[in-house]
Amino acid sequence: PDLIGDSCAFKSIKVAIKCRPLTEREQGRDIVRVKHDKEVVVLDPVFSKDYLDRIQNRTKEKNYCFDRAFGPGCTNLDVYTACISSVISGVVQGLNATVFAYGSTGSGKTYTMVGTKSDPGLMVLSLHTIFDLIKKDKNSDEFEVIYDLLEKSSAHLELREDPMHGIVVAGLRCIKVHSADKILELLNLGNSRRKTENTEANGTSSRSHAVLEITVKRRQKTEYCNQVMRGKLSLVDLAGSERASEANSGGQKLRDGANINRSLLALANCINALGKPQKKGLAYVPYRNSKLTRILKDGLSGNSQTVMVATISPVDSQYHHTLNTLKYADRAK
Ligand code: ADP
Ligand code: MG
Repeated sequence: PDLIGDSCAFKSIKVAIKCRPLTEREQGRDIVRVKHDKEVVVLDPVFSKDYLDRIQNRTKEKNYCFDRAFGPGCTNLDVYTACISSVISGVVQGLNATVFAYGSTGSGKTYTMVGTKSDPGLMVLSLHTIFDLIKKDKNSDEFEVIYDLLEKSSAHLELREDPMHGIVVAGLRCIKVHSADKILELLNLGNSRRKTENTEANGTSSRSHAVLEITVKRRQKTEYCNQVMRGKLSLVDLAGSERASEANSGGQKLRDGANINRSLLALANCINALGKPQKKGLAYVPYRNSKLTRILKDGLSGNSQTVMVATISPVDSQYHHTLNTLKYADRAK
């Protein structure tokens, strides 16, 4: 089956794996390429009756277990329904959350976060749900939704520690919006400005992290109180997780690659420290080690919910990247 595992009892970090289908080119349908790529990823339903037999026959394999695993036949909506929708209702209630796609270039991160018309991604689905929930809620008489996109040009903006608001990106525009469509327009604009460069390893490799930050501010007036609830959702399309050295690119790209690796490493260290539920809030979490983790701090700490969607490609040529991603995701649990 394409969908395996079951959602666990509440945990601060949920980890899901998403394996994309072979592309036309990998299937050998592309006229330029005759070779058919081999698939090396198998998703096992934990409770199938012949599970143990099959495990015994595949002793050379590496096995990992995650909260959820989505196969090539799964849609972004499947991921959304199983892992994200409950997080979104929390945000509308004033909780913070972070959802990020982690994986090597070409594994399906952008496809997962942004998606297509026929298979809208987690950013698109989250936005529509937020606005639907706001429309449905009759108890509150005012909502403001603030949207920030950290795009290419904001790379030089400073992070500041604000006593009232925690960590803020100085000079970042906050845009007040009233519809999901308006945000999608801004999202597309931001995405079109993302810094991408061709690398030898892959067609277009995103060299940047893209963070879509949505603040839902909700004023609830009752006879007795006038309360403002504020929930922040960070949706993150991370840079490719493959090592800069493996991509065989030099100069500026290598330096970007090194920085990107450093921020992914910092993210891994934070997630690691937060990974054990009893540790959350108590252990030292090294947020300060990268700009990425400082920006995401609010959505990773305290009562926040975090979902990591690790994207992998099914093809043999990507075996090492796939294994690295599974190891990274395994450590996050
Ligand atoms: P990344 O952002 O991780 O570098 P992309 O999201 O650009 O990777 O995906 C790489 C390629 O795989 C793209 O051509 C994309 O359309 C395709 N792809 C990824 N996931 C799926 C999927 N679930 N179904 C169909 N095609 C997919
Ligand atoms: Mg991408």
